[in-house]
Amino acid sequence: MFASVIVSVSSNSVDRLFTYKIPDSLVDTIRVGHRVFIPFGNRDIQGFVIEIKETADIDVSKVKEINRIMDGTPVLTEELIQLSKKIASYYVDRQISVIEAILPVALKTKSKTILKLSEHAGNEATVLFNELQKNNEVIVRNLDKDELKKIVPFMKSKELIEETIIAQHTKKKTNRAVRSLYTGNMPSERAVKQRELLEWIESEDAPITLLRIRDAGYSVQLVDALEVKGLVERVDVIVDRDPYDTRVFFESERHTLNDEQQIAYNKIKDAMIENRQETFLLHGITGSGKTEVYLETIEHALNKGKEAIMLVPEIALTPQMVHRFKARFGDDVAVLHSALSHGEKYDEWRKIKEGRASIAIGARSSIFAPFKNIGIIIIDEEHESTYKQGERPLYDARQVALWRAAYFNCPLILGSATPSLESYARSEKGVYKRLELKHRAKAQPLPETTIVDMALSRQEGNISIVSDILREKIIERIEKNEQIILLLNRRGYAHFLLCQDCGHVPMCPNCDISLTYHKSNGTLMCHYCAFETPVPNKCPECQSTAVTFRGSGTEKVEEILRDMFNTEVVRMDIDTTRNKGMHETLLSHFVEDNIPILLGTQMIAKGLDFPNVTLVGVLNADTTLNIPDFRANERTFQLLTQVAGRAGRGDKTGEVIFQTYNPDHYAILDAQMNRYIDFYKKEMEYRKIARYSPYYFHVLFTITSENFNHCVKASHDVSTKLLEHISNQSIVIGPSPSPIERIKNKFRFQILLKYRHEPALLEILEQLDQRYYVAYKKSGVSLRIDVDPQFI
Ligand code: ADP
Ligand code: ZN
Ligand code: ZN
Repeated sequence: MFASVIVSVSSNSVDRLFTYKIPDSLVDTIRVGHRVFIPFGNRDIQGFVIEIKETADIDVSKVKEINRIMDGTPVLTEELIQLSKKIASYYVDRQISVIEAILPVALKTKSKTILKLSEHAGNEATVLFNELQKNNEVIVRNLDKDELKKIVPFMKSKELIEETIIAQHTKKKTNRAVRSLYTGNMPSERAVKQRELLEWIESEDAPITLLRIRDAGYSVQLVDALEVKGLVERVDVIVDRDPYDTRVFFESERHTLNDEQQIAYNKIKDAMIENRQETFLLHGITGSGKTEVYLETIEHALNKGKEAIMLVPEIALTPQMVHRFKARFGDDVAVLHSALSHGEKYDEWRKIKEGRASIAIGARSSIFAPFKNIGIIIIDEEHESTYKQGERPLYDARQVALWRAAYFNCPLILGSATPSLESYARSEKGVYKRLELKHRAKAQPLPETTIVDMALSRQEGNISIVSDILREKIIERIEKNEQIILLLNRRGYAHFLLCQDCGHVPMCPNCDISLTYHKSNGTLMCHYCAFETPVPNKCPECQSTAVTFRGSGTEKVEEILRDMFNTEVVRMDIDTTRNKGMHETLLSHFVEDNIPILLGTQMIAKGLDFPNVTLVGVLNADTTLNIPDFRANERTFQLLTQVAGRAGRGDKTGEVIFQTYNPDHYAILDAQMNRYIDFYKKEMEYRKIARYSPYYFHVLFTITSENFNHCVKASHDVSTKLLEHISNQSIVIGPSPSPIERIKNKFRFQILLKYRHEPALLEILEQLDQRYYVAYKKSGVSLRIDVDPQFI
């Protein structure tokens, strides 16, 4: 018997399957989807079995043998293998890269993980940690206690524990040590026990924690004995505890669905009963009870003995949201998000794979939850751009969800108060079935929104970022002990530094972007490459001391608010939530201590449900309007609608203020009046004229290089190739410099392909990808092909 094995060898531009012989000892156990260890060149590497076959298509005498399988059961199902192939083909990537994205990082090729701090003697622990992060690797082997202590402050978690993991036995079974277990002159009782443990370890999925070994009834001494004989290997890893471990979840209130919810639920249930793949667009205003509908549908799926996946945007994955699911379904829920360590993610993944959880909730990559019988997939806030992965493989979880739903013949629910234009257009055409929730579940009215013209405010003499109207309203709430949420979509202290004498603005040396002032650590920082430099006290160009800070970020506004209202402020942005658990700590501080003001970037716009918040203020509604992207209006409308929806969710009526320099812009006016349809129609008009999605599909080509000339040359080569092959219905824009022309010292050019129907597209893209590997790469140029890009 033979196996086709896919391997991760980075020099490969295309996937290649390699044929290996299955040793007799493995013929009965090995399955498609197994992770295997194989000889490759002059080393041993990891691979995945993609196919098992009876004949080899190459000279049998040259075929090598698989060393061993790495887990008791296959890590990939046939469905996930098929899916990886589909994704690789559609997004022009390698199947092995997709497979690695599907699996938790903990299962990635092992060779990268070994990094000893002591080898970096003299270097700062930071260097090591950066290295680890760069390699997407925080598994550290063989560190002693002191070394561990050095890197702990750089880890995300506060409550690190050390755990020892036993890797699969290392030697072949015929080896002497093993034989000694069976025939040696050891006291027989101990030998039997060790034998039993060894056999148990072999039958289990590696790696195995000490905890699991103890749970299975074996002592640590037995492990030690096996280790001395070289039969098992101990690996130290750093894992965090289950973040929800110590928390008690109270049964949450269960609501009888109202009429609108019931109608929506019934439609979805019918599709589930008939095992029909159907995509529903659940269009419900903020607070209309969409989540309640999700809970009911998931329960129905579970009752049918099936599983459920629910995706939420990372920032909406709040403790509140998790609480609602844990309270309803208890331990049946696996939660996956980016704040988990690799070890924790792996634990949650195993819960799913081993059938200990039937519901997976999480951000984008949870779409790959290794279920075998999915009954429902839900994507909440479906309009969010974060469902598209920003690095390779550049997949879109919404597209992947469609493929998985089709495979399992199950419904897919896309929920949003502000659906993406693409999804709404499909619901207009009947491709998706639209379900509407037009009223808030608790029958509260939507908050009233007032627009404040900031240009006028300035003319009237108020140059503060807080207008008179907003200030009065804030004072009013503070007096009534009610709470306020303020959105400012810009972090840092000042946006940039300006010399008033010569006009010089300090720029990042690596990127074409100005540096942002962070007062807390007295530095100027680049938000693209993390470059940092101390704030100069003189202009570096003309030595003038008349340097001023322009534009306010959250850090500065926090100060302004404290002074203006003489009150406490909770600030939430990347800088205050970098450490694990801070997100939750800040929010519970806001709620439990009834802090008057929560100030934050867009991470506060979603998922929060605080009844005592009666005022929401958007300090600068124009931030997203000014981004150079055809979706700028759409994103502005969505963000404003979402954040406004945070007001008045309890018994008290809410109120909203939008401060803007564009008081007549339809994105702002329609958000003010909650006119989704009006916005949709106007925006569709614009997209039609400008020939953008959803009227056209897009592929974005980004060409980058440290060498400007090579970059330009390759860009022209790409566009020439495109023009040669595409139909005359399609449009090629560019090459032109990207909105930020240089990032991390690399020049950037882009080309946009717009098409409606391009039958040979895949082929063209593959050819370009090949050209990249064959020609461009050699001259230090990289080409990124982004199919259905979110940002242009
Ligand atoms: P959405 O997900 O659309 O923002 P939620 O499901 O969070 O809305 O519901 C908003 C609020 O209304 C929540 O506090 C929820 O508990 C409550 N709610 C939802 N459905 C009902 C119902 N049928 N009856 C009473 N309250 C409900
Ligand atoms: Zn100057
Ligand atoms: Zn930079």
